[in-house]
Amino acid sequence: MIDFTEIIGHEDIIKHFKKSIELGQVSQTYIINGENGSGKKTLTRALAKTLQCEEGGTEPCNHCKSCLQSETGNQPDVVWITHDKPNFISVDEIREQLINDIDIKPYSSRYKIYVINDAHLMRPEAQNALLKTIEEPPAYAIIILLTENMEKLLPTIVSRCIVLNIKPVRENDIMEYLETVLHLDNERARFCMDFAQGNLGKAIRLASSEDYREIKEDVVRVMRKLNDMAVDDVIFAIKNMNHNKLKVGDYIDLMMMWYRDILMLKVTGNPGRLMFKEYVGDIKKQSSHISYEGIENVIKAMDKAKIRLEANVNFDIAMELMLLTMKENK
Ligand SMILES: [Zn+2]
Repeated sequence: MIDFTEIIGHEDIIKHFKKSIELGQVSQTYIINGENGSGKKTLTRALAKTLQCEEGGTEPCNHCKSCLQSETGNQPDVVWITHDKPNFISVDEIREQLINDIDIKPYSSRYKIYVINDAHLMRPEAQNALLKTIEEPPAYAIIILLTENMEKLLPTIVSRCIVLNIKPVRENDIMEYLETVLHLDNERARFCMDFAQGNLGKAIRLASSEDYREIKEDVVRVMRKLNDMAVDDVIFAIKNMNHNKLKVGDYIDLMMMWYRDILMLKVTGNPGRLMFKEYVGDIKKQSSHISYEGIENVIKAMDKAKIRLEANVNFDIAMELMLLTMKENK
C-alpha cells in the first residue's frame, strides 16, 4: 500500500503534509529535493493518494474509489509528466501535458495533481513556460516537482514553491527493513546499509542485486591491485563492472567504503566492524602505508568524481583524476 504509515523515515516531511491537510493549507507548488532512490516518488504517491481520497483525512481510507485507483496507478486526476528523451524534458512536453491541460477541471476528485519527476531535466524554455502556470495555478491544481539537482531549476521557479529536502533515513530503520522485510542476514544487511548512507532505495538496489557477491569482489579486485595497475587499465576495469541496476557512482561509493574500512582499522585497530571483513589482510596492509591525510584526500577526490560525473564531465577524465589521487596516496 502507498500510505504514509508504510513509509520508512521522512517523518518531518510526512508531518508537514499531514499538518497542511489538517489546516486546509496544502500548497499548490512543491519541490521535493533528494538524491535518486531517497523516497521522493513514494512520498509523492502517498501525498497524492491522501489528497484525492474521498474521505479527506490525513491518511487515505483505502476503500473509496479514488484510493483503489491510486493503488493501481490509475487515478485520473494525478498526472505524471512523461518525456521521450532520457536526458531532457522539452517545452512541448510541458505545454501538452501540463500547461494546456491544467485548465480542464478534475475529472472526479477534489484536486488535479501534476508531478514532474526529474524536474531538473526541464530545459530552461520548459521552465520558463511553466513559470506562468506556477504563478497562478487554478485553485484545484497542485504541481509537485521532484529533483535531485535543485541548482538546475530557475530561481524564479524555486522561489514560488515550498521546498522539502529529503533527509537520510536512520541506520536502524534501514537495518530493520533489510533484515525483516528483505530477510537479509546481518552481515549483508550491514554492508548494504553502510553503502546506502541513509538512502533506502539505494540499500534495496544493492540488497536485491543477484550478483551482490560479485559486485563486492569486483571492487575488491580493483582496490587490491590499484597500485600495480596503470590508470587506463583501472578505468577499463571499472567500465566493465556492469552489474544490473548499479551505476558508476555506486562503484565509487563501494570504493569509498573500502577507504572507510582502512580508516576504521587505522583508528581503532579493530577488524570486527569492517565492511570488507573477509579482506582484512589487504586492508591492514594498506592502512599501514597510507596517512590520515591521504585517506582524507582520496575520499574528497571520490566525492569530486561523483559530482563531476553528475555534471556530465567526460567519464574517463573524471575517473582519471580520482584514480591519480588514489595512486598518489597509497
Ligand atoms: Zn479513500
